[in-house]
Amino acid sequence: MEPIYLDHNATTPLLPAVWEAMRPVLTDAFGNPASAHRFGRRARQALEDARERVAALLDAAPDEVVFTSGATESNNLALFGLCGDPPGHLLASPVEHPSVAGPLVELARTGFALDLLSVSPEGIVPADAVSESLRPDTRLLALMLANHETGAVQPVAEVVRRLPPGVRLHCDATQAAGKVPLSFRALGAATLSASAHKFNGPKGVGLLLLRRDVRLRPRTHGGHQQGGRRPGTEAVAQAVGLVCALDLAVREMDARRAHVERLRRLLLERVRKEAAPVALNGPAAGGLPHTLNLSFPGLEAQALLMALDLAGVACSAGSACSSGSLLPSPVLRAMGVPEPLLRSAVRFSLGPTLTEAEVDEAARRVVAVVARLRRG
Ligand code: PMP
Repeated sequence: MEPIYLDHNATTPLLPAVWEAMRPVLTDAFGNPASAHRFGRRARQALEDARERVAALLDAAPDEVVFTSGATESNNLALFGLCGDPPGHLLASPVEHPSVAGPLVELARTGFALDLLSVSPEGIVPADAVSESLRPDTRLLALMLANHETGAVQPVAEVVRRLPPGVRLHCDATQAAGKVPLSFRALGAATLSASAHKFNGPKGVGLLLLRRDVRLRPRTHGGHQQGGRRPGTEAVAQAVGLVCALDLAVREMDARRAHVERLRRLLLERVRKEAAPVALNGPAAGGLPHTLNLSFPGLEAQALLMALDLAGVACSAGSACSSGSLLPSPVLRAMGVPEPLLRSAVRFSLGPTLTEAEVDEAARRVVAVVARLRRG
């Protein structure tokens, strides 16, 4: 029995073309991009080409691109780097990823006031709710683009338009980058995070886009790399892998989206019909089609996940970063999902490398496992 991977929001398989782009950089262009000799110059050329291409793909300027080790680092760099010293007021959606929520809690511990906005039952922040929560001393608002558990898309550009000039918006676009058209300039955020392993690139590399007029206090101190904003020898091959994966994702965006939408419909329709009762958590329409969050009332998510793994279906409950804890998802809780549904929620997440036959077989296995567990 072949295992089927339905956990693409946790991470994605590396595409062979991406690996082929990275390989010669690891073996031949191995120099330190800060070295002045020809080995260093070659690595620098590869790095700066990657930076320019990323900037073009996301409609930013090359000097607005900071390569990091992933979105967790990018989110920490942005949040700690933008806030300055307390006191001050911070706002965030209640459905942010732990790598945004965690730094905000830490900032609150050091003396910032932190308020969480409310969300609709579908997990979306109403744009007008933001204006009501602003204070004269508000410095920053953290609002993600697409949610990792439900696929809900937030009205980020609309919210930015309504913000007073002194309030900066940090946007965690980790689940959206490469999946929806993204223009940093048009979005208007001060900072934006993304991570290559969410769009079939390598792990260990991400980026922070930083608007040119925004000053960032670095988190680490050392050399002058990346304008001192993120010192340390750059991971050139990973940056090349990131841009190759992003380029493919952007070029194939419409086809991939249509494919993933078909897969989601297939999975949802079959599970709804054959494993009822099933409840859908998150937006019924308009969200990212890669994510399908379903509750199976009467069952416990952890038992269901284990049985599904044994049956050869890999999926998750909540974000991989919080799946070590057995606590119900804070995202679904903030949406007001009632307790029995909260306890039985499972996230299936899809990607372009899956086939219809695999998803059909996965649906068959889910139906069988749910029926067996319900029989007790
Ligand atoms: N933000 C979101 C919305 C995510 O889904 C993730 C990954 N689970 C991250 C941030 C963290 O990304 P990374 O694994 O690159 O640190």
